[in-house]
Amino acid sequence: QDPASGSGSPFPQRGGPIQVFYAPPEAPRRPMISHAEGIYMWDTDGKRYLDATSGPVVSNIGHGNGRVLAAMAEQAGKVCYASRALFENQANIALAERVAALAGPGFERVFVVSGGSEATEAAIKLARHHAVACGEAGRWKVLAREPGYHGATLGAAAITGDPETDAVFGPVMRIMPRVPAPFTYRVPGNLDAETHARHCAEALEAAIRDEGPDSVLAFIMEPVGGLATGALVAPDAYYTAVREICSRHGVLLIFDEVMSGAGRTGRFLAAEHWPDARPDLVILAKGVAAGYTPLGMVLAPREMVEKVVAAGGFLHGHTYSANPLSCAVGEAVLAEVMDRDLIGNAERMGILLGERLQVLARHSGIVGDVRGLGLLRAIEIVADKTTKAPFPPARKAIARIVELGLDRGLLLYSRSTAGGRYGEWLMITPPLIVTDAQLDEMMALLTEVLDIFEAETRS
Ligand code: PLP
Repeated sequence: QDPASGSGSPFPQRGGPIQVFYAPPEAPRRPMISHAEGIYMWDTDGKRYLDATSGPVVSNIGHGNGRVLAAMAEQAGKVCYASRALFENQANIALAERVAALAGPGFERVFVVSGGSEATEAAIKLARHHAVACGEAGRWKVLAREPGYHGATLGAAAITGDPETDAVFGPVMRIMPRVPAPFTYRVPGNLDAETHARHCAEALEAAIRDEGPDSVLAFIMEPVGGLATGALVAPDAYYTAVREICSRHGVLLIFDEVMSGAGRTGRFLAAEHWPDARPDLVILAKGVAAGYTPLGMVLAPREMVEKVVAAGGFLHGHTYSANPLSCAVGEAVLAEVMDRDLIGNAERMGILLGERLQVLARHSGIVGDVRGLGLLRAIEIVADKTTKAPFPPARKAIARIVELGLDRGLLLYSRSTAGGRYGEWLMITPPLIVTDAQLDEMMALLTEVLDIFEAETRS
């Protein structure tokens, strides 16, 4: 019950005295969460929902995992917090060792923070520190793709390719140069995807030249796109080209694997799909603690960190950096991922999911594209599959589909780009524990929801 409104409703009322701070005024009423187990969540009315997207691609091992809850209780019983300035903590060391071993050569050092945006900030600061330590203090620009997403803090937002964010927050941040994302579905000039991707790589090189190669510190990208591009996977040649361009100009390549990392694409790092394009730095968050506690991290090569340490140390940290409780949870989550071969399951179920989404696309009049890798997939929603035209913004197509999903007990995660500029899509990213039968259930609900919406639009 909403105690302040006295309305008797369990939900904050639209326009009523209680407003959830971040909810836009026109947001539909949302159910109140009660509890969750595996890939299912229940509201306080007892209604069950199947989580088709792991929340915002977070709950990789599902909810209520006994091993993680036990690890959490055990660590909490020992110590929840210890100042980094005064103590080492074993949970941090165990987590860092596991992540470094999983990530492989080139990622021997792990700096632990509390989320994806903090990890982006830490990666940029480490890169900058390193440039200064190498006598390249002129390098400071971080290039990124538009659209793209690297976090909500001002430093991360400055490199996040989002004109809407720039319009509001531009005056309080230093917006960094952007290059186009290599979309494969709605390709400018009706080029084939490979040619367009080559042009996008050339645009990166042109941007580095225009900015002045000696001023460019890094290029950051999501190897498999998240919400900003709807699980965009570029043609293979793009990754090799980007790596080669960055190396040639002494620009660090950063992979933002906040969504794609921790096993979601069927590899621990999505970077493993393109071994010729290994990045210099990787950032992880979301799936590494699977939503049980806030956690993020930067993976870096030993030599880079040693250089920075030798030059005086890493001038960066937060009160909750390497928090013992979060580290213990991250270690338990990754132990569960490895012991249950959930990365293998992501690969196997990902192939199945890709096939089933293709079947859905053939059946549905509004699914224009299916893309992604492993269990990081998305479907693009269009008004017309021949012209690829999105629904007009006033139709609020994606919002309506999400609402229909909630109604039918299916949790969805969606993106509608400004004015339909890049299109709109639904992420289809179930937890890595998903079974064959649960995929069937999810696909049946998704098909039903899209059929209802399509019938609404055609009537
Ligand atoms: N990078 C990517 C690719 C993301 O998807 C997100 C969050 O959605 C972030 C960074 C920011 O992470 P956080 O919300 O934990 O700060």
